[in-house]
Amino acid sequence: MKLSKLSIVVPCYNEESNIEELFNELKKVIDSFDYAYEVIFVDDGSKDGTYKEIEKKSTQYDFVQGISLSRNFGHQIALLAGLENSTGDVIITLDGDLQHPPQVIPELIQKYKEGYDIVNTRRIDDASTSFFKKKTSKLFYIFINKLSDTKVEPFGADFRLMSRETVDAFLSIKEHDRFTRGLVSWIGFDQGVVEYKANPRFSGKSSYTFKKMFKLAINGITSMSSKPLRISLYLGLIFFITGLVYAIFILYNYFVGVNVEGWTSILITILILGGIQLLISSIIGEYVSRIFNETKARPLYLVKKQTDNVS
Ligand code: UDP
Ligand code: MG
Repeated sequence: MKLSKLSIVVPCYNEESNIEELFNELKKVIDSFDYAYEVIFVDDGSKDGTYKEIEKKSTQYDFVQGISLSRNFGHQIALLAGLENSTGDVIITLDGDLQHPPQVIPELIQKYKEGYDIVNTRRIDDASTSFFKKKTSKLFYIFINKLSDTKVEPFGADFRLMSRETVDAFLSIKEHDRFTRGLVSWIGFDQGVVEYKANPRFSGKSSYTFKKMFKLAINGITSMSSKPLRISLYLGLIFFITGLVYAIFILYNYFVGVNVEGWTSILITILILGGIQLLISSIIGEYVSRIFNETKARPLYLVKKQTDNVS
């Protein structure tokens, strides 16, 4: 396993108050390494002084590079921007809020040396995560693994090690609405897992609001599977058959002479059918909008500025 240079990629959105601490923690770990390294901070259109902090570090240390995206493109795209600019034989991605402890990095590298091309992480016992987030995240993984043909490691995070080959494979995927965890699982190769204890956020607050989590979940499912469309077909079939049976029942009533009643049944039918139709058309709409986004083929992100040492 080749390892002459290590790249560390950190997506940052409003992490002004975390950069210094994260850098110090990272430095403690990588200073002990005897191979070359680079640390790439991607400022994902932060509204605070995140990029200033990155620049400060970059002028002090040549191995620190900063890329500032032209606006907030989201965590997954910021990750991608960092990966595209990395030059190491081994690339490690981690969050900018110290929830992914740099102390685990040597363990990841150890696993890589054992022969794994990708080393994912699984968080255990994290006091940092709210009960609600744990539950929704568990539900999400159950759901996505049921619906999708690609298995996604539960409780995984975008804290992982990837070899140069696998990063190149990952970058060859040009999809717009990206669900990194799913895509990494999709590319295959030999994947290992390391467990770690997540820290609470060092400072600042999570930018993964419920809305963003919901979006990520929908994205994860629709980008990895077309089963929801199949389910729509089954739902449609079930309702069609039930409708037919009910029609026969009503016709029977008509011929035996009962035909004015029916307020309750009509209302129930209208409500259920209306609901199902809306649901199914929005599922289709979700896929159509994905097609729309892909066909526009816009660049995945734009860079506003970067430090001089970016390769
Ligand atoms: N992040 C980003 N762009 C965004 C939102 C988040 O680059 O639009 C980064 C953020 O700075 C952090 C990582 O993605 O390094 C994870 O975000 P966060 O800590 O807010 O999420 P959580 O850990 O709560 O899931
Ligand atoms: Mg976090």
